[in-house]
Amino acid sequence: MHNKTLSELSQALHLREFSSVELTHYFLDRIKRLDTHFNSFITITPDIALAQALAADERLQSGDATPLTGIPMAHKDIFCTQGIKTSCGSKMLDNFIAPYNATVVENCLAAGMVMLGKTNMDEFAMGSSNETSYYGPVKNPWDTKTVPGGSSGGSAAAVAARLTPIATGTDTGGSIRQPAAFCGLTGLKPTYGLVSRYGMIAFASSLDQGGPIGHSAEDVALLLNAMAGFDSRDSTSLNHPKEDYTTHLNNSLAGLKIGLPKEYFSEGLYPEVNKVLDAARDQLEEVGATLHEIHLPHTHLAVPIYYIIAPAECSSNLSRYDGVRFGHRCDNPQDLIDLYKRSRAEGFGAEVKRRIMIGTYALSAGYYDAYYLKAQKIRRLIRDDFVAAFKQVDVILGPTTPTTAFKIGEKVNDPITMYLSDIYTISGNLAGLPAISIPAGFVNQRPVGLQLIGNYLNEARLLNIAHQYQRCTDWHRQSPPGVG
Ligand code: GLN
Repeated sequence: MHNKTLSELSQALHLREFSSVELTHYFLDRIKRLDTHFNSFITITPDIALAQALAADERLQSGDATPLTGIPMAHKDIFCTQGIKTSCGSKMLDNFIAPYNATVVENCLAAGMVMLGKTNMDEFAMGSSNETSYYGPVKNPWDTKTVPGGSSGGSAAAVAARLTPIATGTDTGGSIRQPAAFCGLTGLKPTYGLVSRYGMIAFASSLDQGGPIGHSAEDVALLLNAMAGFDSRDSTSLNHPKEDYTTHLNNSLAGLKIGLPKEYFSEGLYPEVNKVLDAARDQLEEVGATLHEIHLPHTHLAVPIYYIIAPAECSSNLSRYDGVRFGHRCDNPQDLIDLYKRSRAEGFGAEVKRRIMIGTYALSAGYYDAYYLKAQKIRRLIRDDFVAAFKQVDVILGPTTPTTAFKIGEKVNDPITMYLSDIYTISGNLAGLPAISIPAGFVNQRPVGLQLIGNYLNEARLLNIAHQYQRCTDWHRQSPPGVG
């Protein structure tokens, strides 16, 4: 049951081979039995899940079901869920019960999906390994001594361990794609503005974007159908007509021009990872694509400017946690300043504090022009590199990450090395482009991700390429040892 695709589950539900209640019980039971090994959930919501499953079964009976009705899923704990703890992986929000649903949560509910629970994540989505979570690190089901990636590591581990068929994530600098790569999954970061940010707790608002993490391009396309759509409550939401992302999955790749950025296949990329990507490139050529070398000359500036822009926005966004309105409040404050200081000192972890300090510094009078403004100008150059590249090619192929999953504890005390694991993903966020990571093989039994970056709103094309690749490979069907 846990190895079925979303379409297979949907078909079985529509044919009444099993009910949504049965399916939900099945996955809740797996979570209960297995998640002690992975720590991928912060909150499990069995009562809510079973009530939603019952409603889904009624909908299936009455004939007004969608292809997603009755299918269990999990939300990253960054999405507000009404009446349910929404922690964002932080002690600051450990006591926070969201009073409303994020639009993404509403959209999944409207499609009739069943929420199993909320997944673990790096604190406020700041991290690449899930080690900054207040709720402890998540373990990678492929090798529990290694990290699942971050910040959507709980969602990725839960899908990889078959504790849920699919999950939501968010990606500010790589947080959907990098954990998807480390856990052998398919993860899509949509074009900025395609998925509503309403009720998605803000880290860096000009970069944050929600998206699906699943096994295959087809599964991811189905969940994107529910997640995407204009939302008047998000001022940066794109007023783009609804698309069905499954329509073009079977299109031929004949004539597809794939760009290979010289800057992505250079120093820093592990040779074994490169070897895996070589094989994938051959495979895509066999199904009709042509390969072209391209240049993205400002790539080396992406990580440095991301670590100005993202902390700057985070320092502003996180100023709302002041111990007054919601979240953690210190005991017995002496005065207002003491309340602010101690609530924030106690509520935030080390990585979040580091970012708030960097961001506050970069935005301060006297430094704003030298850091923030300069970073914004370089951001434009990075975007222009892509605009020029998409005049020559249809899609860009590269690694998702320079290495496979690293050991828990290996990089946690060395922030710069940790930051470099997002070197190939961050540019996509700075430019606002859609990008997908798909499983392309293994190095020492650890999954390797291949990244495809598309032009604005080319999600359907990315999913089409990923699907065609998955028709001739079975990397996405492999499951970690011991999970069945
Ligand atoms: N790892 C990056 C960071 O720490 C990206 C995180 C994300 O995409 N949310 O900021």
